[in-house]
Amino acid sequence: MKALHELGVAELVAAIADKKTSAVEAAQHLLARARQHASLGAYLAFNDDATLAQAKAADTRLAAGERTPLLGVPLAHKDIFVTRDFPTTAGSNMLAGYQSPFDATVVAQLAAAGAVTLGKLNCDEFAMGSGNDNSAFGPAHNPWDSSRVPGGSSGGSAAAVAARLVPAATGTDTGGSIRQPAAFCGITGIKPTYGRCSRYGMVAFASSLDQAGPMARSAADCAVLLSAMVGPDIDRDSTSLDHPAEDYTAALTRPRAGATAAQPLKGLRVGLPTEFFGAGCAPDVLATVRSALAECEKLGATLVDISLPRTELSIPVYYVIAPAEASSNLSRFDGVKFGHRAAQYDDLIDMYKKSRSEGFGPEVQRRIMIGTYVLSHGYYDAYYLQAQKIRRLIAQDFQQAFTQCDVIAGPVAPTVAWKIGEKSADPMANYLADIYTLSTSLAGLPGMSVPAGFGAAHMPVGLQLVGNYFKEGELLHTAHAFQQATDWHTRAPQGF
Ligand code: GLN
Repeated sequence: MKALHELGVAELVAAIADKKTSAVEAAQHLLARARQHASLGAYLAFNDDATLAQAKAADTRLAAGERTPLLGVPLAHKDIFVTRDFPTTAGSNMLAGYQSPFDATVVAQLAAAGAVTLGKLNCDEFAMGSGNDNSAFGPAHNPWDSSRVPGGSSGGSAAAVAARLVPAATGTDTGGSIRQPAAFCGITGIKPTYGRCSRYGMVAFASSLDQAGPMARSAADCAVLLSAMVGPDIDRDSTSLDHPAEDYTAALTRPRAGATAAQPLKGLRVGLPTEFFGAGCAPDVLATVRSALAECEKLGATLVDISLPRTELSIPVYYVIAPAEASSNLSRFDGVKFGHRAAQYDDLIDMYKKSRSEGFGPEVQRRIMIGTYVLSHGYYDAYYLQAQKIRRLIAQDFQQAFTQCDVIAGPVAPTVAWKIGEKSADPMANYLADIYTLSTSLAGLPGMSVPAGFGAAHMPVGLQLVGNYFKEGELLHTAHAFQQATDWHTRAPQGF
């Protein structure tokens, strides 16, 4: 048998069910590994007692003959999901030492499916960033090259999965934070349709965009997790969609009409937005994405040229709407109702100022200021309202595109992972790198990243797939067919 950490989710479920290992043994092995590779900066918190108690409970359920989709499988959560047994910081000093009295819905649903929580994973502060270098607790590193970023904001999740510290993890995606770190670390990640997973217990960044999703080594493993994560939670999250849960593992191999064993993608029209394949994308990334698309063609897919004409506008639109919502969401952290309170202050206003200046890092403060500005009287119509109008047009562009194709494909990011610190001094450089992921989020569509090969400096490149609303099954089916024919998703970084 392979070493325990080499097993993916489905393999681990089977190994535990067949008594080749136990939930306790798997948890202990992965906890030790996580500590051995602590310099990766992937984890922010452990609670061995809680983890082992959960693992024991899973073993008891197994012994009683119970079988659930994730029974005994260790998972770790982005530190933006609140957890009763672990501290939650959202990567911020504002929440340092915070312990939630309850579990986020997504965490609870994964636990109900049998998952065991290993710990909490590093992320950009309040999920604002593209490199995990905005975390108040230090950066996470890319396991393919520790001098590079793992992507962000779910950088700890991507690094931990890629380095085989955990078979799968949760992430959140507001403007690309599942897809981009998955691409940078060579793993598979999917952001479902907005509202598909409950936001209850997810520390809010931009509420109309935030969405949870799984990050794992394969589309098949993502399907197992996603099936447990989705579903209505309307009483606790008013934007949760009233759409029943779905078994995405069944979708993986469900044959398309007219498809054959050799051509599982026959009949699938893959749209390539011209705006995603222009000069803005690095040649190594373009070449890797194109060869992945050639593979899709071999598998029966038809490539069609499409246009998403407002792609460039997605950057200013997102960087008005997301900070606007963030400024509102983060106003609750005032040192009174929630969050860090300064030790010394003169009066109430001084207490607010000092608490918020000490608690929030520079990028979060920048966004609060931008958000407050664009929502203020006199600027609201010019910025916020205008951005909302363009957001609607961006969503319409996708609907137009989906009359010509079933899924949209392209790069996830214009380059491979950059060096830690390279973009730290230049927020605009970070924002521009989100060009291919933001529009999907603004439209609320599902999108995923699939390992497609390697680019410059032998760093992983992701193929992005975007589907229409509720087409997660079609995305996972497409990615699974690709992964049956390629082995990029099985490649592991050296030293792990
Ligand atoms: N990089 C984007 C930002 O900084 C997206 C982050 C995210 O999806 N959470 O806002």
